Amino acid sequence: MTDKTINKAGSVRRVTEAEMAEQRDYISRIRAILAQRNDKPKAFVETYGCQQNSSDSEKIKGMLSDMGYEITDEIDGADLVLYNTCAVRENAELRVFGNLGALKHKKRRNPDMIIGVCGCMMQQEHIANTIKTKYKHVDMVFGTHALYRFPQILDEALKHTRVFDIENEDGAIFEEISVKRDAPPLAKVPIMYGCNNFCSYCVVPYVRGRERSRSAEDILAECRRVADEGYKEIMLLGQNVNSYGNDLPSGTSFSELLKLVCRTEGIERIRFMTSHPKDLSDDLIEVMASEPKICNQLHLPIQSGSNKVLKEMNRGYTREQYMERLKKVRRAIPDIVLTTDIIVGFPTETNEDFNETLSVLKEVEYDMIFSFIYSKRVGTPAAKMPDVLTDEEKHRNFDEMLKVQNEISKRKNETYAGTVQKVLVEGLSKTNDKTLTGRTEGGKVVNFSCSDNNDLSLSDYVGKIVDVKITSVQTWSLFGETEN
Ligand code: SAH
Ligand code: SF4
Repeated sequence: MTDKTINKAGSVRRVTEAEMAEQRDYISRIRAILAQRNDKPKAFVETYGCQQNSSDSEKIKGMLSDMGYEITDEIDGADLVLYNTCAVRENAELRVFGNLGALKHKKRRNPDMIIGVCGCMMQQEHIANTIKTKYKHVDMVFGTHALYRFPQILDEALKHTRVFDIENEDGAIFEEISVKRDAPPLAKVPIMYGCNNFCSYCVVPYVRGRERSRSAEDILAECRRVADEGYKEIMLLGQNVNSYGNDLPSGTSFSELLKLVCRTEGIERIRFMTSHPKDLSDDLIEVMASEPKICNQLHLPIQSGSNKVLKEMNRGYTREQYMERLKKVRRAIPDIVLTTDIIVGFPTETNEDFNETLSVLKEVEYDMIFSFIYSKRVGTPAAKMPDVLTDEEKHRNFDEMLKVQNEISKRKNETYAGTVQKVLVEGLSKTNDKTLTGRTEGGKVVNFSCSDNNDLSLSDYVGKIVDVKITSVQTWSLFGETEN
């Protein structure tokens, strides 16, 4: 077996038509080869991390489907296994290494199986090198910027060449590609890639590059397409959607883009992620309040309640500035459902700083928080800061925070008991196939039964917005039955 490194220096901002045509040729070539097999080959793609990664995986699955692969949820019997990895925290990385290790004996039994690893972890040199030297059964390794070259990479791997395609230049935007999404009603639409913020703990700017916005025309065309395919809700994605358009000649702002997306007929709900507090404009608040399709939901990561820690995190706002923005949002949209991200155990965080975070949670009363224990990331400024608290103290604080927040989340949910909520039905409940599951406009999960006596089977409700009376609540979800 030979090793081959594909690397195209000096990437363009947008992949040219000729380059896309080249990739389409690879797709046709692979399809022709695979068509000679008796059975349809199966591909298993596992995604770690954020919505952006899931969106990238939808493109990979689209390309694989075009090549003739059947996408499977079962790793057993798969001809191709691909892990789309996340580098934000260490535990996601450890899981990938564990899974790769477990594949070694499978590959020994089935040498034709193709094993690949892609995504954010691969943009870190030390990780890519470890895979190269210690995980020799891995056939292809490619980073976030090489995504559009996946057909070419797989073509090489199928010829028994070990492929490495990791580029440090910011990835060019590519448009004309198949996307294999989850079934309706929810569609993810990326509006920009990368991040310019360099929060001191975060690896994202290093593995995803600088901010690159897609053109409004391309985004709107994709929204139109998903509406035509029957999707009802769109989630616009970016690491900091509030700085959308700063790099575009047209200068279209995020609030302007939102207004345009709202005109997409057939789309009933629009959400977005993630909004950076320092860039949350009055214009955006006004558009959120005035456009009925934009959900009354905002994810606004605060990370810490201590001004000292916020400064060391390089977040670009103080607690007071954050609270001022939030006040404006609540004044404009009184029923807004608020969520946030919190990091516990940032190196310089003391118990007093942590108490400031607790006090923010009590003051704001978020509906839900996503909380993480700080994870050291190689190459980030925070990795060089010495720890003030021990791991044990950090875990104790983390547990205390969960206790405080769970009580708040439950109390917030209790205010929904007895109300009627408009729920977009997403499917059958995972735990009970007699009940349906969906979300309120604010994004709260509702599991409910159908009391209608009409001819609709339960699956006919998927994609519809129905009135659900909330009969009971838990910390993480609501329960109810349809209103007749
Ligand atoms: N761009 C988004 C999300 C980025 S990653 C934003 O700025 O909000 C998602 C979350 O992971 C972050 O909000 C942060 O809370 C958490 N996170 C990022 N790096 C981390 C690290 N090194 N350790 C622990 N949590 C981290
Ligand atoms: Fe990471 Fe900060 Fe960028 Fe979010 S804004 S991706 S936390 S650097």
